[in-house]
Amino acid sequence: MSHDAPGTGQDHDIVIIGAGPAGCAAARLLAQNGWRVGLYDKADFPREKTCGDALIPDAHAALDTLGLRARVEQLAYPTRALRLISFDGSAVSVRGRTAVVPRLQLDGLLLEAAREVGADFRPGHDFQSVRDEDGRLYRVEFLTESGKVAVRAPWVLLATGAHAAPIARAGLLERHAASSFAVRQYVRNPRLARDFDQLVFIFDHSVRGGYGWIFPGPDGVFNIGIGYFGSAEKNAGLRRDYEHFIAHQPLARDLMRDGVVVSPLKGAPLRTGLDGTRFAEGGLLATGECVGTTFPLTGEGIGKALETGLLAAENLLAHAAQGRATVAAAHTASLAALRPKYAAYRKAELLLRWPWLANMLVRRAARGEYMRTRLEALFNETADPANLFCWKTWLRILLR
Ligand SMILES: Cc1cc2nc3c(=O)[nH]c(=O)nc-3n(C[C@H](O)[C@H](O)[C@H](O)COP(=O)(O)OP(=O)(O)OC[C@H]3O[C@@H](n4cnc5c(N)ncnc54)[C@H](O)[C@@H]3O)c2cc1C
Repeated sequence: MSHDAPGTGQDHDIVIIGAGPAGCAAARLLAQNGWRVGLYDKADFPREKTCGDALIPDAHAALDTLGLRARVEQLAYPTRALRLISFDGSAVSVRGRTAVVPRLQLDGLLLEAAREVGADFRPGHDFQSVRDEDGRLYRVEFLTESGKVAVRAPWVLLATGAHAAPIARAGLLERHAASSFAVRQYVRNPRLARDFDQLVFIFDHSVRGGYGWIFPGPDGVFNIGIGYFGSAEKNAGLRRDYEHFIAHQPLARDLMRDGVVVSPLKGAPLRTGLDGTRFAEGGLLATGECVGTTFPLTGEGIGKALETGLLAAENLLAHAAQGRATVAAAHTASLAALRPKYAAYRKAELLLRWPWLANMLVRRAARGEYMRTRLEALFNETADPANLFCWKTWLRILLR
């Protein structure tokens, strides 16, 4: 990357908007490679992000690439598996590298990791607009406490997460509605924490067409929540359904029995399925959950946000010298290549709305190797989800 001489009006080589996992991953890689990165966020850090806080294998892989795994592990509560509990109480555990780190801490660490290699972080900057000035520089405008601020850079990366407003302001929004919503709460329960070493996903009648979770975090504090698979009409009842879930689902009831609630119930939207946002327009790229990188079905998105933040940075590093059109095409192609995986997860959302199918899947996996190894491979991303969530495989499961 050749840096412009002072006086040309350029403030950074790239303006990254949003300092969540996607923005920080891109910022760290670009800054490590000598780019002058301006990293802007509307929030002051450390800041909370409403999330389940679970890191699944894809997040560990991205943290390896960023050279941050050991540091994150120092903050994390280690878990060794994912446990699925179905509507009828049947359960199975699937091995995989997992951990739980409250986002307040994880995102603080990621931001620090971007800053320590030179990213210039500006908190309290609420993104308002981006305009191509002269085919060479973008002018990006923010609202701050002291008024409007404009900065200029040849490249802009949008990494603002699931909310539609900033994506619309960047002119990249194709679908306004979020894919789904979820709520979560922190509950301290040292008794239950003693032997709790799995991420628990629960299919329950209180959350038909979605799922609940109970994840053990550091200091005996659990993250418990529920969310629906992309069904807007059910989101209005999320709080009521959460109350029903914690009052009736056996494990949730056990957690709440002598647990101490340490946070209010908070909700947030999710954008899943890699659709609803254009990936690039000239030198303006978008990455992370703002392009829908969170998985349908599981709602897991930290790993994919890190991974696609890195993808955006890699495309910039490889192609910036060839100009905007080449970078935009490379970025669009690398995200589009992930689409089949998302389509398979979307299909799974449809299948697992049926309690009897979920029960059968979990029972078969608990009983034998065939289904369990397939689930394990899916979770660890060593198998193509399209092969598991297709009618042929389900027919085979039915007939076994
Ligand atoms: C309840 C819930 C539970 C979840 N549980 C999990 C889980 O257990 N594991 C998992 O992997 N994923 C989970 N997810 C998904 C996960 O939270 C997201 O996939 C992930 O945060 C996406 O990262 P990101 O960097 O793309 O966006 P974010 O983490 O949302 O970061 C975006 C950043 O952009 C900033 N920003 C937004 N608007 C502006 C603006 N106008 N100007 C400047 N800055 C702006 C925000 O302040 C924020 O810092 C969950 C989501 C929800 C809602």
